[in-house]
Amino acid sequence: MTGERYFFDPGLRRSIEQILLPDVQLPGQYIGGELGETVKTADSVCGRVGFCFPDVYTIGMSNYGMLVLYSIINQHPDMACERVFCPFPDMEKVLREHHLPLYSLETFTPLWAFDVLGFTLQYELGYSNVLTMLDLGGIPIHRTTRPADIPLIVGGGPAAYNPEPMSDFFDLYNIGDGEEIFPELCSFWIDLRREAGIPQVRQSSGGWPDGGRKIGDSERFPYELRREMLLTVARKFPWVYVPEFYDVPRRASGRAGRPRPNQEGVPEFIQPAILKNLNDFLPPQNPIVPLVETVQDRISIEIMRGCPQKCRFCQSSPIKRPLRFRSIEQIVKTAEETTEKTGIRDVTLLSLSSSEYPKFEELMTTLRDTVCPRGVTLSVPSLRVNHQLSDVMKSLTTEKSSSITMAPEAARDEMRRRIAKKVTDEDLMKGCRAAFENGFYRIKMYFMCGFPGETDEDLDGIIELCERVARLGKEIRGRWPTIIANVSNLVPKPQTPLQWDAMASADYLRNAHKRLRSAKRSRSVEVKYHDLNTSLLEGLMTRGDRSIGRVIETAWRNGARLDAWNDYFQNSVWTDAIESLGVNTELIVHTPFQTDEELPWDHILNYVGKEKQLKEYLLSRPGGPVAMDQERLRNL
Ligand code: SF4
Repeated sequence: MTGERYFFDPGLRRSIEQILLPDVQLPGQYIGGELGETVKTADSVCGRVGFCFPDVYTIGMSNYGMLVLYSIINQHPDMACERVFCPFPDMEKVLREHHLPLYSLETFTPLWAFDVLGFTLQYELGYSNVLTMLDLGGIPIHRTTRPADIPLIVGGGPAAYNPEPMSDFFDLYNIGDGEEIFPELCSFWIDLRREAGIPQVRQSSGGWPDGGRKIGDSERFPYELRREMLLTVARKFPWVYVPEFYDVPRRASGRAGRPRPNQEGVPEFIQPAILKNLNDFLPPQNPIVPLVETVQDRISIEIMRGCPQKCRFCQSSPIKRPLRFRSIEQIVKTAEETTEKTGIRDVTLLSLSSSEYPKFEELMTTLRDTVCPRGVTLSVPSLRVNHQLSDVMKSLTTEKSSSITMAPEAARDEMRRRIAKKVTDEDLMKGCRAAFENGFYRIKMYFMCGFPGETDEDLDGIIELCERVARLGKEIRGRWPTIIANVSNLVPKPQTPLQWDAMASADYLRNAHKRLRSAKRSRSVEVKYHDLNTSLLEGLMTRGDRSIGRVIETAWRNGARLDAWNDYFQNSVWTDAIESLGVNTELIVHTPFQTDEELPWDHILNYVGKEKQLKEYLLSRPGGPVAMDQERLRNL
């Protein structure tokens, strides 16, 4: 790599390979160089973007959205996009011991040398990883301590729909679909930097300028300059939220209200960006082939965005609307191209409810005629349990899979009505029958516990339903199938109709798990629970306000790492942080909101709108809407 100027840092790469890799597990995740990665020369672009996934490589490389934005930005002639993942603690330790920064996989560039760092926030349990990555990458974690030449730190993704808990750390958030807005934002920021006289950090094979000085020149590029630049962005883009320009009112109850603008010209409410036509962006045609095994070693193709259903607990439904479809031509072309280029033979048709793709049968038939003869297998992970399910099962017979997943969420009709989960036992049993008849012998079923007004019958019903399915399998296949009931704990999420509800207490959920365990009779049924402590932490981080940033920082400083991983999650670090800061989790997590109360995330809008969600909430209440609510319902 001599002659041309690359971003590539040969010194850092050498150090990583020679010093670090012998000491860390799974070194392949830290060296890049995979088939399909994009490496641009420094002279060919005006700026570059680090796309950061706040979890480890094996999880992040399975994230479809990341690969999509990586591909889109790299198609931009003036910008380069490179990937950054959170290291496991063993890698973090050696990086720190050797005073080496976190870097991008494409060119071994330290995080501080980028123009923009975009984090996709898929789940709240990745928040401490954001701080690990910033800190290891040489970026001050607090946004107000960053001089203007430090990269712009952007958050996006589902968790950004309540941006407050992490708003001490992100300069700004992008709300909504990223395909159009994220490249636009990056390009705009790169221009602002140039106009402000901030030099792009480049290096050649000779090393970093100024002997590898870190950026962060607060004399030449003070925070006040950065603040001016951020204000320009906040005024320009209706889908950008810049926490600096909003104050959080605190009410007598101790709860935070809706953040209000403290500058003229910044929007009072943030509108989500919506990509009108999914077909405007072809899925990545040359996806990166990971060097190490990831959670999903397959090609993913998004066939539909949004979900036709409106389950009241579900955050994906309101934030991914409206419903949009990819054309069969694009799906087939992508399946052909990507399987050919990568050699990967498994294709997943991605959406929130794939069997509700309007031309599902035609799609499956076309794919079976085109790519399946070349040894490609198809999987359809999100099947809706309805009258079509048994037909859909039949159309899956050519796949090798022996396991199928369904999500009834609740076992009894009354609870399904309340959460608007349109599933009937009849459809479910028919679907299971078709699954067993078509060779499946393992059925995974997703349920939730902790719904407001839940009864013992609702819990017992989960086991009864699974045992009925098991008996059906025995009857059809002559041997006992495996039925796995995956039971998660309801966390009433922001932006959903159940956002006004409280999360059940730890005692309630513990007893519910106990009851499920003791109700189980059949050895054919396995019950798995989500860890109670991580659910409670998720409740705090998803429903919290700006004050939760202190908890996240304290826990991180005391060692919180990779909280979504059972092997690394340390509950006591979090409970100590909560206790030492006197945070009232009872109020934030376990107390319902009044329907006329402001919510801490009310400044972030979703496609459905609060009024409609309020109506859904009132309809969800145990025993139906109470008299006072009837009146409100009439007026909504
Ligand atoms: S079917 Fe699934 S994705 Fe769709 S609204 Fe219900 S829970 Fe959400």
